[in-house]
Amino acid sequence: GASAQELGMTEALHGPRMRLLDLAFPGRAGRFELRRDAFRQGGRPHQLLVLSDLTRPLREEERQAWQRLIRVLSHEINNSLAPIHSIAGSLGAMLHRDPPPEDLQADLHHGLEIIATRSEGLKRFLEAYAKLAKLPAPRPQTVDVGAWIHRVAKLETRLSVAVENGPNLSIQADGDQLDQLLINLVRNATDAAMDTSGGVFIRWSVAPQHLEVRVEDEGLGLPISSNLFVPFFTTKPTGSGIGLVLCRQIAEAHGGNLVMENRTEGGARAILRLPIQA
Ligand code: ADP
Repeated sequence: GASAQELGMTEALHGPRMRLLDLAFPGRAGRFELRRDAFRQGGRPHQLLVLSDLTRPLREEERQAWQRLIRVLSHEINNSLAPIHSIAGSLGAMLHRDPPPEDLQADLHHGLEIIATRSEGLKRFLEAYAKLAKLPAPRPQTVDVGAWIHRVAKLETRLSVAVENGPNLSIQADGDQLDQLLINLVRNATDAAMDTSGGVFIRWSVAPQHLEVRVEDEGLGLPISSNLFVPFFTTKPTGSGIGLVLCRQIAEAHGGNLVMENRTEGGARAILRLPIQA
């Protein structure tokens, strides 16, 4: 029943048709979506304002993200823990057998080896997680975009990455983090391109405030999944599933962003946008 004026939204009548607002009402603060529409009634122009509470849908998304993360984590941890548990059990049973089995030594050796490899895998997995959680703040320096892209492209040895030169420019960014980001994108593109014996291409362009880098491949395209950027989501037998998350974190820490999409011609495309000034 409150008027637009009471809500402090007089300017909402003239703003964009849809926008997100953080508002505080007595008893309820949160994010709201404001939609505006014009209509005429009895020949007179009216404005319709619809205010919807977005807090719940946002929490729902957060809950789903947690669920996806937990699903991937459980899967990964179980893959290591289940064999460790079962082998420890059977080794224990062997030790208690009387008389001891003939090849006890060999079985013990083999079993312990599996336990060691599995726990090593779990350790690597946790290290990868720590790397994700502890990304340091970027330390901006001057990065020559062409030099950066050509250098990373040459690091890929499985195929020859084609670089199409864009404008000459430098940006303010953390060079080490940018290397890590582009190496990951090129590695993913190459993984995909190897499946089809296709190619990998990098090009860059400049919008007024942003640098845009595109890494394209002729692979089979992205898996149908909303989990691409969920930590530990991977479709590769020896994948870590942290590459894209790390890439996006680095891009966002620089005030930029990263999206993945399918190309209409087939294959996938990573679009990285970075501000030119830090
Ligand atoms: P990883 O490479 O270790 O699997 P990432 O986080 O880098 O981890 O990628 C997650 C998943 O996203 C990959 O397993 C793959 O399924 C998909 N993906 C990423 N890049 C591409 C690409 N260029 N083409 C097809 N699928 C991709």
